[in-house]
Amino acid sequence: MTSTSSKPAPSREIAVEMTGVNKWYGEFHVLRDVNLTVTRGERIVICGPSGSGKSTMIRCINRLEEHQKGKIVVDGIELTNDLKRIDEIRREVGMVFQHFNLFPHLTILENCTLAPIWVRKMPKKDAEDLAMHYLKRVKIPEQANKYPGQLSGGQQQRVAIARSLCMKPKIMLFDEPTSALDPEMVKEVLDTMTSLASDGMTMLCVTHEMGFARQVADRVIFMDQGQIVEQNEPNAFFSNPQHERTKLFLSQIL
Ligand code: ADP
Ligand code: MG
Repeated sequence: MTSTSSKPAPSREIAVEMTGVNKWYGEFHVLRDVNLTVTRGERIVICGPSGSGKSTMIRCINRLEEHQKGKIVVDGIELTNDLKRIDEIRREVGMVFQHFNLFPHLTILENCTLAPIWVRKMPKKDAEDLAMHYLKRVKIPEQANKYPGQLSGGQQQRVAIARSLCMKPKIMLFDEPTSALDPEMVKEVLDTMTSLASDGMTMLCVTHEMGFARQVADRVIFMDQGQIVEQNEPNAFFSNPQHERTKLFLSQIL
């Protein structure tokens, strides 16, 4: 039943630490005293009702959103208003969104080489070799010279993952990466994520794919109304949820 044995063990080294994090959008208190420690190599699945603050929480980790109170430390760097440090963090933290966000006017290869060339200052040829390496990894090297619009949603999302990997991130954030996909394309993207997970990538994934959570996550976090309500390793989380709100949520999606 349990697949825990196939998971590489996370280390004790801390990758992300959120302490007493609060955030408001104007008057609206969107994150309430969020405390979260993620160790290197840990795979976390975050679930919860729509509007519970899941996206906001992970977007705070690479400063796509700013928190107003509390402390966030990513890879040993505290997130403050120091822009240089924020750039440093963004280089280490890859993010994959629901709507791929590929550049439509660039080829698949160019989408993948853009940041390595301009941000990492990598020579073009090296960046292309690297991009091809990751496009093979996500099993679409043959699409390299096409444009995003010529690919299926599942293929585009795999390009988005390859593009992130080209920056050699230490941490990957996924925000509902399969929820905009046709059902038949969900598996190919989850398979790619599973393979990343088994390579020991530190991952925080917002997803309602509970099969993936069971198979891959070290820890499942349930959020509601801006709070982490409950967290546990997947077997216990699904078989024995503690809070009424978690039970209700699970009864609606399982
Ligand atoms: P989730 O990802 O769990 O669906 P979000 O983090 O996207 O939740 O949003 C949490 C709440 O914050 C929602 O009520 C949403 O409407 C609100 N919200 C999200 N982004 C903004 C924003 N830029 N300005 C104001 N309110 C926002
Ligand atoms: Mg969201």
